[in-house]
Amino acid sequence: MFSEDDLLPISALQHLAFCERQWALIHLEQAWSENALTAEGRILHEKTHEENNESRGDIRIARSLRLHSFRLGLVGQADVVEFPSGSLAGFPPKIVEYKHGKPKAIDCDEVQLCAQAMCLEEMMGLHMDEAELFYGKPRRRHVVVLSEGLRERTETLAFRLHDLTEATLTPRAVWSKRCESCSLIEICLPGIAKGKKSAVRYLRSLILSSLAGESGDDGGDSAETPS
Ligand code: SF4
Repeated sequence: MFSEDDLLPISALQHLAFCERQWALIHLEQAWSENALTAEGRILHEKTHEENNESRGDIRIARSLRLHSFRLGLVGQADVVEFPSGSLAGFPPKIVEYKHGKPKAIDCDEVQLCAQAMCLEEMMGLHMDEAELFYGKPRRRHVVVLSEGLRERTETLAFRLHDLTEATLTPRAVWSKRCESCSLIEICLPGIAKGKKSAVRYLRSLILSSLAGESGDDGGDSAETPS
């Protein structure tokens, strides 16, 4: 069990699920670069949190609800939690997280949502089977099943988050498709890492060519030009 002082933000878990280096740049090195996507997301969240709690029929809607888990060592808040009441009393609450864009190929939004749900479960001593992500494009809710697999991934990431925070190490950049939508690409410079890889290949091929020359064998492993 973690203590109150050890709790880390759920948002950090989302960054970690996206890329460990992105997490380190934001949370260890305090680097942050807002792009059009993150600005839209921030404005959407601010609007959601400005609205008041309300009741709609048999659903009570709580906004910006503070959440924590001493087991996972996490703290944060849910955009919206819908609590059934009246004729729906007895049904579990539903967490809804708002996202401005479209569903992502990587599961970082699902991990963030699952962490929120696991916090609420611990706080209220209940179990939830599902939660929802609302995306702006298209404007629609997506049901996320809180499966054992998603819970295990969320728990593993939460403990890794604590280990990495203690180690205070920023992983090196590794180029991947997700870099194209990363707001920190100008700070991270993953293209240099990509170039380094090519340079290593280039040097390796030069050495192999040279060795082949010494042995009188022209090999066939021609030198590549680094990109
Ligand atoms: S640019 Fe790529 S490697 Fe760098 S922080 Fe973003 S996702 Fe990670």
